[in-house]
Amino acid sequence: MVIVMAAEGTQQDVDAIVELVAKAGGDAFVSRGVSRTIIGLVGDVEQFGSLNLKSMPGVAEVMRVSTPYKLVSRENHPERSTVRVGGVPIGPETVTLIAGPCAVETHDQTLAAARMAQAAGATLLRGGAYKPRTSPYAFQGLGEAGLRILADVREETGLPVVTEVVDAHDVELVASYADMLQVGTRNAQNFGLLQAVGSVGRPVMLKRGMSATIEEWLMAAEYIAQRGNLDIVLCERGIRTFETATRNTLDVSAVPVVQRLSHLPVIIDPSHSGGRRDLVLPLTRSAIAVGADGVIIDVHPRPEQALCDGPQALVDGDLDELAVIMRDFPPLLGRTAATTLTPVA
Ligand code: PEP
Ligand code: MN
Repeated sequence: MVIVMAAEGTQQDVDAIVELVAKAGGDAFVSRGVSRTIIGLVGDVEQFGSLNLKSMPGVAEVMRVSTPYKLVSRENHPERSTVRVGGVPIGPETVTLIAGPCAVETHDQTLAAARMAQAAGATLLRGGAYKPRTSPYAFQGLGEAGLRILADVREETGLPVVTEVVDAHDVELVASYADMLQVGTRNAQNFGLLQAVGSVGRPVMLKRGMSATIEEWLMAAEYIAQRGNLDIVLCERGIRTFETATRNTLDVSAVPVVQRLSHLPVIIDPSHSGGRRDLVLPLTRSAIAVGADGVIIDVHPRPEQALCDGPQALVDGDLDELAVIMRDFPPLLGRTAATTLTPVA
């Protein structure tokens, strides 16, 4: 069961509900979104029915949600959400381009990648300072030094920063530099990490676990929402299948399926799904065509020297083509082209 508080509902109103529910033997999980507070109730639904919660002060609606995920479900929230990252919208009106290097390597490399990204219409900068690598011998990222580079490049370009956090212990540190926290595919069901990013007051991009069903993915998002953070963007980045020609198989159908089930924005990562530069632009077109709310793309000024994922990074003329896609495709879907929103510094 989910309680939607009215905009004018007070903290006292929320506290009164939490107390009443606790007395009835249930648990109430308070989630404060940008525009409203939602309380998820777990326990005996029949018993809650007798509490007459609808008549409590500050309550706008009481809903029974039939799906296992509640706060992220579209059942109680028919309008699709827009998540703002440093003022940049990700939601149903727009197609947002997030781009940058897979990994932050140096200041010059990150700035060059950011300028390339911006020229192609990116309004958010991606870049990993903590890299979840398959091999412990591979480049693991620059850590806090990388976060400082991202903050400097944000200063120089005006692009808000999206960066991954791989360990619950680092969440506060990463959040002190980042505008949006990324949870990667390998950590997509690391529930302690999900709860930590849900508690730190920054928007979160949650990638789909490489072997996660859509329901498991939405339950992972529910872990974040349940900690009071509904500023979640879901990212489809390809799933494991029997196919070996591509690194992962991009599940484009996940976009409309998730948009039907959840009010959260959904974006696509055409770089990590295909794992190949030649597939990035075709998959970007497919992402926009299927209704994704944005794309996140790897770019690198010298991919042959990249310390991580060089073969999938866009470079040189690829960026001109990406700029054309970002300008021409969104209007075909009735959306605003991201480039018109670019706050070029
Ligand atoms: C990334 O975006 O840098 C990344 C590691 O992606 P994924 O978690 O999808 O592999
Ligand atoms: Mn990568």
